[in-house]
Formats: sequence, C-alpha cells, structure tokens
Amino acid sequence: MFDLIALDADDTLWHNENAYYLARERFRSLMEKYQVNGSVDACADHLEVANLDVYGYGVMSFVLSLIEAGLELTGGEMRGEDVRELLDLGKAMLGAEVTLYQTTEEVVSRLSDAYTLMVITKGDLLHQRNKVLRSGLGDYFGYVEELSHKRPKDYAEILKRHAVEPHRFLMVGNSMRSDILPVVEIGGWAIHVPSEKIWAHEAAELPDHLQERVFQAESLGEVPGLIEKLEESLISNL
Ligand SMILES: [Mg+2]
Repeated sequence: MFDLIALDADDTLWHNENAYYLARERFRSLMEKYQVNGSVDACADHLEVANLDVYGYGVMSFVLSLIEAGLELTGGEMRGEDVRELLDLGKAMLGAEVTLYQTTEEVVSRLSDAYTLMVITKGDLLHQRNKVLRSGLGDYFGYVEELSHKRPKDYAEILKRHAVEPHRFLMVGNSMRSDILPVVEIGGWAIHVPSEKIWAHEAAELPDHLQERVFQAESLGEVPGLIEKLEESLISNL
C-alpha cells in the first residue's frame, strides 16, 4: 500500500529540543548582568521566528537570533565575551552526540524490512547531514532529504522526484506544522508522535476534514503496529 515511508529526524528519531531549552536558559542568565529593555524571552522568541525567512531553521539561525536579541536587549552593550559564549554554545550544539530514543533503531530496522524509508529533516544542511551520519541509522534509509522548509510544495516536490503518488506516502513526525499538516494537505497520510518538548512555532491546528488521514501514536515504538493496522484497514476499504 505505501510506496514510501518518511520519518522526521529531530525529536522524532532523536532528542533535539532540549539543547535549545538549555541554550535559552544560558542566554537568560547571560542577560542578568545587564539592564535590559523589555522581556528577554519575548525578544528572543520574536527574533527566532522573524529570522526564519532570512536564515532558515537550525542552530546557526538560533545563535544569530540570540546574538541579535542580546544586542537589542542591552542597547548594543552586550560584551564580546558574551557573544563569544553564544557562539561557543552554538558550536557545542552542532558537535553534540546524537541521542536516539530507546526504540528508534528497532523501529527503523523493522520498518526498513518492509518499506523504502526516507528521512525528511530541516535545518542547517551540514548539521543535519552529520546527525544522520552520527546516528548510525544511515543504512536503514534509502534516501535522506534535507529541506530548508517543510511546506506542502516541498513535500510535493520530493514525491514528484521519487515518482511516488501522495496517497501511497506516509510521514511520521513530532511537528503538526512541519511533518503532518503539509503532508495530509497534499493527499498523503501521517502519524503524529508528539515529543516531550516542542517549539511553540511548530504547533498547528489540524482542520476537521483532514483528521481522517492523521493517526496518533504515543511513542515511536507504536508506529510499526499502527502502520500494519492502517494498511489492513485501507486494503479492506478498497
Ligand atoms: Mg521534529
């Protein structure tokens, strides 16, 4: 039934968001020694989202946004040593070990026995590529797609390139906005596996008419069983 199953990477196959939380905590404490104009979190939140169109997603965009927020909050008074600390924080995030979820390897191994698998991720190209390499999961995936955005047209373009019809495509991911909604909007299927932490920007409302194409899993470990059931029900409805 499915010709292609794709999985998101960050906070679907491995931990990711926690590093951003810790970096934001560090940024808040760096700002404590300054007289800041306005709310530290509101300023950083605003710039992170506003800069997506300029830098795209990922660690580098995040760090540049924190430096910009620091300069704005302190009226240009942020010290060089604090800029340096933010840059070092970014480098540490880019070089960090990839920590898989407990069931990740078992799940992708099981799925790869029956399906062609693809990773579809967004962020810094080099970083995402390195994470797939470091994860040790590369052999399970037939394809890796690194995108700067995950919009309906980005998924449609991938499916066209791989000659896969949308109704024979299933995407698994933690972000309603990036992994689920754009896929079902173009006629695909999706399994939403919510992560413990998620950036508020990744939330989205699923319209009623698309709900029948989206299935909920509590954890990645449930995904293979859910796909089997979905296959059975789709075949019996043919
Ligand atoms: Mg994700």
